[in-house]
Amino acid sequence: MPELPDITIYLEALERRILNRPLQRIRIASPFLVRTAVPPIERAHGKRVIALIRMGKRIVFGLEGNLWMVLHLMIAGRLHWREPGAKLARKLALAAFDFTDGTLLLTEAGTRKRASLHLVEGQEALSRLHPGGLDVLRASPEDFTASLTSENHTLKRALTDPRLFSGIGNAYSDEILHRAKLSPIALTQKLGSEEIQRLHDSTQAVLREWIERLREEAGDEFPEGVTAFRPGMAVHGRFGQPCPTCGGKVQRIRYAENETNYCPTCQTGGRLLSDRSLSLLLKKDWPKTPEELEEMRASHRR
Ligand SMILES: [Zn+2]
Repeated sequence: MPELPDITIYLEALERRILNRPLQRIRIASPFLVRTAVPPIERAHGKRVIALIRMGKRIVFGLEGNLWMVLHLMIAGRLHWREPGAKLARKLALAAFDFTDGTLLLTEAGTRKRASLHLVEGQEALSRLHPGGLDVLRASPEDFTASLTSENHTLKRALTDPRLFSGIGNAYSDEILHRAKLSPIALTQKLGSEEIQRLHDSTQAVLREWIERLREEAGDEFPEGVTAFRPGMAVHGRFGQPCPTCGGKVQRIRYAENETNYCPTCQTGGRLLSDRSLSLLLKKDWPKTPEELEEMRASHRR
């Protein structure tokens, strides 16, 4: 799932191409994509794009007339920049957003279509779509601590909970925990202040480094090949490979369709987290699926 660094780079590429330009037309190929009926999607036609914002892992297109179009790519949704009027490829394409200079294509691999598009009117309707998580790049250590310890969760769950933190998913939480030398199953309310400080610093450092890296990689091109598995990652997607810090083997915790990667030497005092001893914890306090997490709402918190 595209996370904060990927979304940031998408937004920068979009700013250069569509900001202040009119969205001429939206062509919808999948009936499941648009999740709102009022206002009708056609209301966006001809409206100028006046803002581009990240909201958690969502991309928000601010349009003239106080209209807000909110795109959630979920796991397999991707954006592409093509020639004006580009065709919708039969299997993958969900929608095309037509501009004078080019077409923004939305595709989603796989048969399960989970990406979503909401069109709402007014700031209030927009804020109702916000899961409520803290913007970690701007958060002070105090705000970070408050969010982290507001509930007692495993670190893996807390970092990826969109109600607590904005824009962090399975990939970058692995990288952040490795940098902070903290176990994915450590409980948030049992952490010492020095550990929380380390987590705060690591969160900001890892995300900033990856934004920089992806920005450099994309250059002036539209970012293609957006993936949760990057060759430069320390542990995520690197089960069995050497940890870049200590050389030990990267391990994994598997659950549902996902896995969490960690280095025992760097993060768990050399302890291997066995599937069996984890089973209770995994049931109780582990991120379920990225979809379920993304569907959580801020309703009972704020
Ligand atoms: Zn290590």
